[in-house]
Amino acid sequence: MRKNSGFTLVEMLVVVAIIAILVAVAIPAFNSQLDKARETACKANRRSLYAVMSVNYMTDEYPSLSSAFADLYSLHSAEYKCPSEGTYTWVDNGDGTGRIVCSVHDDGSGSGPGGDPGDPGGGTPSPDYYPGTTITLQPSYWPQQSDFAENWSTVSVSAGGVFRYTDGNYYVVNRTTTVSKSQAASGPGGDVYNWYNTQRITGRIVTYTSPDEQKSTLTRGDICQVGNDYYVFIDGGSYAYGPTSPLSGSYQWYKIP
Ligand SMILES: [Zn+2]
Repeated sequence: MRKNSGFTLVEMLVVVAIIAILVAVAIPAFNSQLDKARETACKANRRSLYAVMSVNYMTDEYPSLSSAFADLYSLHSAEYKCPSEGTYTWVDNGDGTGRIVCSVHDDGSGSGPGGDPGDPGGGTPSPDYYPGTTITLQPSYWPQQSDFAENWSTVSVSAGGVFRYTDGNYYVVNRTTTVSKSQAASGPGGDVYNWYNTQRITGRIVTYTSPDEQKSTLTRGDICQVGNDYYVFIDGGSYAYGPTSPLSGSYQWYKIP
């Protein structure tokens, strides 16, 4: 019998079939990896563009992030672009913050108020907290000029909202109040409202070792944590017992709901 030194036709067909299967499996996997890589690159580019915008906005080159986007996106379009040919648009939250949305990688329904502009949409907006706490920030809490039907009309701002205003400061509304169009324009830190309804949060978080401890160095807008609750100091003085102490006055601490 002649010794078989090559492959039979069946063997060849089996090898070809195996290669075909491998290719059929590998190509979609490879494509999806490529898509993922493009999406990641797109997100990174949007973050970078946002960083450039923020720096220019903070150094007063532009009056708003929106105008910074309009200018800088066209200026750097070769650098910060979507690898899948998507186009970027600026979606304003209405309070000065916003995010860069990609027409391919982002359906625009995400949250990202300022801090997280590159996050693609599609999910539930992740809550934004006051730094170092579990206080949920309320987006667009302060009335916009467009919220007023007429110049003379007022808008009610309900108590309890902690929010970040366009001046970069955080505020809490501790008393439900009506705001006129011009008062809204002067911002929550404006003269009209200053301490009565709205506190500018100082950034200080104080803790008491016991409710009846007396502190003497408080400033209006300080935050105090008691267990899982947060209170804001709304008194003009600097002395106060803890928020849960029967000795402290109701005019001194406001519990953030
Ligand atoms: Zn993209």
